[in-house]
Amino acid sequence: MTVPAFLHPFAATGQTDFITLTHGHGSTVVDSDGKEYLDAIASLWCVNVGHARREVIEAVTTQMTALASYNTFGRWTNEPADRLAEMIAERAPMGDARVFFTNSGSEAVDTAFKLVRLTHQLLGDTDRVVVIARDGGYHGTAYGGTSLQGIGPNRDGFGPFVGGVEHVGRHDLEAVASIFAERGHTIAAVIAEPIQGASGVHPPVPGYLEGLRRLCDQHGALLIMDEVITGFGRTGTWFASSAHGIEPDLVTFAKGVTSGYIPAGGVIVGPTVRGALEADPTMVLRTGFTYSGHPTAAAAGVACIEIAEREGLVRRAVELGDRLHAGLAALLADGLVTEVRGHGAIWAVDLPGSPEVGAHEVPGPLGESAEVAAAAAAEVGAAPTGSASEVARAMVDAGVIVRPIGDSTLAMCPPLVMADHEVDRLLDVLATVLGS
Ligand code: PLP
Repeated sequence: MTVPAFLHPFAATGQTDFITLTHGHGSTVVDSDGKEYLDAIASLWCVNVGHARREVIEAVTTQMTALASYNTFGRWTNEPADRLAEMIAERAPMGDARVFFTNSGSEAVDTAFKLVRLTHQLLGDTDRVVVIARDGGYHGTAYGGTSLQGIGPNRDGFGPFVGGVEHVGRHDLEAVASIFAERGHTIAAVIAEPIQGASGVHPPVPGYLEGLRRLCDQHGALLIMDEVITGFGRTGTWFASSAHGIEPDLVTFAKGVTSGYIPAGGVIVGPTVRGALEADPTMVLRTGFTYSGHPTAAAAGVACIEIAEREGLVRRAVELGDRLHAGLAALLADGLVTEVRGHGAIWAVDLPGSPEVGAHEVPGPLGESAEVAAAAAAEVGAAPTGSASEVARAMVDAGVIVRPIGDSTLAMCPPLVMADHEVDRLLDVLATVLGS
């Protein structure tokens, strides 16, 4: 079988056994054979409002009919982008914010990386160029994000990287404190996901995020919270930073902002960075993208926030999380999983010891081959074998999509519209597959 023209991301280059999706509705997607799957990973941590929402489709269609696309460089603007920026600023974890738009989380991270350096340059603190990043952090695949990310296999072969990045252990606040103590005057920023997602759903240890904020304040550095997954209600508040009482200097977002209907992302810019950028109001901010503030994407974003408000989806994240957590805790009590981690509507389980199976014999998730399982495993740098891929594959066969991460982790991140009976089905299928 020949490979298709479409060269897939995070897939084996020889992959041929793709599953073609044709439809979606609510928490369900449907393939070209008419088989239905419960989408318990919300595409890729993003479809918060569920698939095929009429309100989003109508907002997008109306906007496309009026003005599908126009740049926002210089004087040009459009109503949906202005409106969406206001709506995001109102819900931001820091006061007095402005919003910069990108098309993706990767572009958001790279923009934040540039903005922290620019801020210190403008403030005359020209030695501050270093960004501290955490092991296990996933900050996208552009060069800034690849340089910042702490998932080794995602960096392999892509060097040399952007300089001035220091990596520290996932929860190692002491290491951050030491770097600050040794060379605090060179540190521009610290970047952290409130809950690390792609490396296996790792919430912070108590006090960790608060500690980062404190160290940044003490040493004059900026704090970037990468809320590409956790933003827009996923953890029970509009942004996870708020639940920790943290006011970041910059927040990167994407995914949930438009629930993936149209690609969009951005950076929420807090007062310190604003102050530097706006000190000379004639200074031109020389960064951005042709599609920054894209009117159709912005219209999707406005519609998604309106749905989330109207349907109480931020609160629903907590209910979903409680139900998922209770079900997963029961699996833990039964010895079917060895660890349960998560918060709000993002969870993961670790599976008991992976059987020693060769990579080329292991079917991957979504009916994928072993090579794709290898790519998924590479997200956390684990060997491309193991129970996670097998379990995920069996779950796909049973019509439920979860995300295998590494050898032994399964992640769940349901659309926030998922019904209780669908959560129960997810848990039932997981229990059945693990039990067998
Ligand atoms: N940052 C985080 C925390 C993410 O989880 C992701 C993607 O999963 C990104 C950045 C990159 O986003 P994108 O894939 O939209 O470029």
